[in-house]
Amino acid sequence: MLIDFHTHTTASDGALSPSQLLLRAAERGVQALALTDHDTLSGWQAAQALEADGIAIVCGAELSCQWGGATIHVVGLNVNANSEALVGMLEHLQQLRHDRAAKIGAKLEQLGAPGALAGAQALAGEAAICRPHFAHWLVSEGYMPTVSRAFDKWLGNGKPGDIKTLWPSLAETVAVIAAAGGVPVLAHPLKYRFTRTKLRAMCDAFSSAGGAAIEIVNGRQSDSEIVALKRLAKDKDLMVSLGSDFHREWAHGADLGVDTSIAGDVAGVWEMIL
Ligand code: AMP
Ligand code: MN
Ligand code: MN
Ligand code: MN
Repeated sequence: MLIDFHTHTTASDGALSPSQLLLRAAERGVQALALTDHDTLSGWQAAQALEADGIAIVCGAELSCQWGGATIHVVGLNVNANSEALVGMLEHLQQLRHDRAAKIGAKLEQLGAPGALAGAQALAGEAAICRPHFAHWLVSEGYMPTVSRAFDKWLGNGKPGDIKTLWPSLAETVAVIAAAGGVPVLAHPLKYRFTRTKLRAMCDAFSSAGGAAIEIVNGRQSDSEIVALKRLAKDKDLMVSLGSDFHREWAHGADLGVDTSIAGDVAGVWEMIL
């Protein structure tokens, strides 16, 4: 079965609208699709009104939180969009994004790119404002040659435009997803570039907080990484999830759809959700 439990739309930093994403998923033969925009359910909300072409649509969001001094992403799958705890947390996260955006804009202005906040806001429109909106604006105005250079120089982790933000704790985020009846999934465990010891400690903290699964596929990675993540899931008694983390058509990125056979004998979250 082809599924995709990690995707983005124009409701956050993706390039496709929810309807364009659904169309692409249908063309690719995806049978179950979770819309997991950053800190908002509005991608999924828009998809509700659309013809799903036989695709099972899963309500989700990728929530920003913190653990061990780093920003961590937890995907909440199959959440109840009316949960008060979740709605409250999403409002708080949007406020944090709004406040952070003003600080990123001021920092970019200091670095010689005036008007960044207004420019990024114009690109974001109604969307949750994300660092890629700033990166795309910097490219469109000629301040940076590419989005990836904008991250390398100004916006990436540890760079001047990476404004420290007091995201909720990992434990609180997992608890809110669980309270909303959802399945908490630790997103892209290898992207934090932790040591093996810290990676395992993060999984322990996630698991004790009530976390259910880790992503063993997130976009493109090597077979050896998938094997290592599968072993980690087994060791920590966690289920696994699969997603492309699709944002836009991009030569270096994965397209929609992951075959569930990749999980082998490890339990997949789709078995409990679909
Ligand atoms: P934010 O949640 O607003 O801090 O933005 C994080 C998003 O920026 C991620 O979800 C990615 O889509 C994107 N991103 C992070 N690092 C890079 C990078 N080095 N190059 C391109 N996009 C990136
Ligand atoms: Mn993103
Ligand atoms: Mn992420
Ligand atoms: Mn993502």
